[in-house]
Amino acid sequence: MNDVIIIGGSFAGLAAALQLGRARRKVTVLDTGLPRNRFAGHSHGMLGHDHKPPLDILADARRQLTRYPTITLVNARADSISGAIDDFSVLTADSESLRARRLILSYGVVDQIPDVSGYAEGWGTAIVPCPYCDGFEVAGQHWGLVWSGPQSMNQVRLFHDWTDRLTVLADGHDLAPDIRTDLARRHVAIADGRIVGIVRHGEHEASVKLDTALDVAVDILFAHPRTKPSASLHESLGLDTITTPTGIALKVDERRETSMPGIYAAGDLANPGMPSVTTASWQGATAGISAQQSMLV
Ligand SMILES: Cc1cc2nc3c(=O)[nH]c(=O)nc-3n(C[C@H](O)[C@H](O)[C@H](O)COP(=O)(O)OP(=O)(O)OC[C@H]3O[C@@H](n4cnc5c(N)ncnc54)[C@H](O)[C@@H]3O)c2cc1C
Repeated sequence: MNDVIIIGGSFAGLAAALQLGRARRKVTVLDTGLPRNRFAGHSHGMLGHDHKPPLDILADARRQLTRYPTITLVNARADSISGAIDDFSVLTADSESLRARRLILSYGVVDQIPDVSGYAEGWGTAIVPCPYCDGFEVAGQHWGLVWSGPQSMNQVRLFHDWTDRLTVLADGHDLAPDIRTDLARRHVAIADGRIVGIVRHGEHEASVKLDTALDVAVDILFAHPRTKPSASLHESLGLDTITTPTGIALKVDERRETSMPGIYAAGDLANPGMPSVTTASWQGATAGISAQQSMLV
């Protein structure tokens, strides 16, 4: 029997495994190798790993974990979970059945890329979600922001630290008069109409095609598509969730325990705030330590 099975072996899951392995706990990490930022050429903002390709950071982490004899890394998808604290079972897509006293869910979320020509091709390069991740390299240039609701106003305020050249693409949203007044006061241009295509030029630059027959040229486009958890294992267990502006997140307490005793969650799957590699890593480390300490006699 494992002490802990970790489902999702990326930034959150591997950080959890590291703490558990160093505490000499027997851990199995199941992973399908599809981290959310795999579309980005470089990952930014993580101390010691700034401007490295995300898959290189993860490959280094996996290499470091091979030092720990109690950690087993398995390339496999977890398909179902059953049981209760001290005796959980996880069934993999290869029909392997594994048991553990605790579970850590860190299988992340999937961005629901809109069915717009050029969107998927530009995601991670010309279309990005976060200024902390990609803003520095294009500071002072002309940014576009795809409006996704009232919460987009927070992005407008945030972006001032990087650029004063911003166009909001309403993308079918009817912007309220007070929002239009606020944007005008901030010298932010508004392009009404729905986005029907995105044509990428060079590394970040793009032309955004609107159904008004207008093209808006930007040096980079920021967007926040809706997300959904990468797996539905939490649903079969009925774990509590909270609603976020773009989807849902698992509800956890300060030790990162979910609504079911013995199951912890970390990373984007359980982060209602701004997601990042750094946040996922500290949440994973916290989940690992909490799971370990919950087994002390
Ligand atoms: C385009 C883009 C660029 C980004 N750039 C940055 C950046 O520069 N800096 C930064 O800090 N953050 C960046 N982020 C955010 C960052 O990608 C996430 O915050 C981070 O990846 C979250 O880590 P995680 O471990 O929670 O989830 P993920 O990294 O998404 O990993 C989840 C893992 O679980 C696995 N998995 C899923 N389902 C199963 C299953 N059923 N069984 C087993 N395994 C499963 C997946 O294959 C994956 O390996 C970016 C995000 C995007 C979309």
